[in-house]
Amino acid sequence: MSPTFSYSDLLPIGDDTTTYRFLGKEGVSVVKLGDREFLQVDPQAIAHLTETAIHDINHYLRPEHLQQLASILSDPESSANDRFVALDLLKNANIAAGGILPMCQDTGTALVMGKKGQYVLTTAKDEVAVAQGVYDAYTKLNLRYSQMAPVTTWEEKNTGNNLPAQIEIYADSDHQDEYNFLFIAKGGGSANKSYLYQETKAVLNPTSFINWLDDKLRSLGTAACPPYHLAIVIGGTSAEHTVKTAKLASTHYLDNLPTTGDAATGHGFRDLQLEEDVLALTRTLGIGAQFGGKYFCHDVRVVRLPRHGASLPIAIAVSCSADRQAKAKITKDGIFLEQLETDPVHFMPDTTDEHLDDSVVKIDLNQSMDAIRAELSKYPVKTREIGRAHV
Ligand code: SF4
Repeated sequence: MSPTFSYSDLLPIGDDTTTYRFLGKEGVSVVKLGDREFLQVDPQAIAHLTETAIHDINHYLRPEHLQQLASILSDPESSANDRFVALDLLKNANIAAGGILPMCQDTGTALVMGKKGQYVLTTAKDEVAVAQGVYDAYTKLNLRYSQMAPVTTWEEKNTGNNLPAQIEIYADSDHQDEYNFLFIAKGGGSANKSYLYQETKAVLNPTSFINWLDDKLRSLGTAACPPYHLAIVIGGTSAEHTVKTAKLASTHYLDNLPTTGDAATGHGFRDLQLEEDVLALTRTLGIGAQFGGKYFCHDVRVVRLPRHGASLPIAIAVSCSADRQAKAKITKDGIFLEQLETDPVHFMPDTTDEHLDDSVVKIDLNQSMDAIRAELSKYPVKTREIGRAHV
């Protein structure tokens, strides 16, 4: 006899616990058709939301991320280099919050995921409205244009406005009269650290998996500007879904997944114990926050997905130190965007540079290159150096 039919989303994302800020109601209305109310959203509302979201994620960070940076400074186990990086990133966050300069020079590819409830009506192609918002943000603000159009297979040209964006809009029957969004600005370095591995059941036990992962995490290196929010997805119904899930997990979009599996439906879940084990592993690698230490990662998310018995995709992705994402929603009450920290100064410590381990080597840049190279080769990797030149 067949098992009883039961259904679950592959990723039951749970309740939305995000704190939002209100952006207004313009372009949002409710219309009645028969005895049912529909949310009507004008393209201008979607464009305005998108533009504001791109602004915010380039200038503001989540308070949790800022707190994690502040905690590095107060952790006695942090290396001097960990603290140096964390303090620099906090200073950087404060400069970015001024609204003139973004938090990173690579202002990323705009990735926008929409989930459109079945009782949401729009009158135009929503992708165009999102693209308009991306265009408006990148052309009005001090944000770099990074998108290269393929003119031929071998020739490329910068599009000059950071379009195209990656825009994906899905139907949503869980939130029928809401239009939910996730906005991400993904830098090239960070995107490059998304990996897919086609493994076998041989790694599906704690010892083999941690040994396998140790190797893979070392190969992540520091090119994507740690400390990272690291995401690992084990399993998946297809390679592309595994990688996509890892990207979502790295933004903490999947934080409210169940924490146990279900033999009947096979839905995905977070493995909290393995997250702790992997975080502990990252702290033993010695890589630290870029130049040696404990803080290679702020945190770890591990999502276990169902798989075909003959395949085991595993994906690894990171969100880098420009941890740029925000959720948003349009409801009958108006337009709402995730509340990021607009005044990060209170995360700055009283610590000054004098409190840091003063193991910085000063290099005289007025020497010849041969002399500079000879000087640099005296010091081990991880040494912090400051170049000084006199004119
Ligand atoms: S990896 Fe992140 S922080 Fe580093 S340059 Fe790229 S976007 Fe900026």
